[in-house]
Amino acid sequence: MATIFSKIIAKEIPADIVYEDDLVLAFKDIQPIAPVHILIIPKKEIATVNDVIEADEVMLGRLFIVAAKIAKEQGVDESGYRLMVNVNHDGGQEVFHIHMHLLGGRRLGPMLVKKK
Ligand code: 5GP
Repeated sequence: MATIFSKIIAKEIPADIVYEDDLVLAFKDIQPIAPVHILIIPKKEIATVNDVIEADEVMLGRLFIVAAKIAKEQGVDESGYRLMVNVNHDGGQEVFHIHMHLLGGRRLGPMLVKKK
């Protein structure tokens, strides 16, 4: 199903695009939670990781190739960064078009706050 990200892919709404090729688009998150916060998305509309099929393998692998390239360009490859993909309600997914968050530029802290 089309989301706001489909409109960004179609250039119907603006975004600060940092990378584009035939399969993948990457743009700055509109509400960054770190000095570097970029969303890397496949151009194909896939709602969640649960909807991935084997034929998506190359395209989804590309997300990591692009992440490494952007991390280097943004100067966080050595300092470190986090790649995050949220899935459904408990994962905190808000936009139902698969996206990889690239977060960096500060110490990001633990993965999750431990339950007491
Ligand atoms: P999720 O919570 O689904 O993993 O992440 C969705 C992300 O998309 C959020 O970090 C949110 O700030 C970002 N986002 C939502 N709408 C837009 C938009 O129109 N433009 C951009 N650049 N980012 C968006």
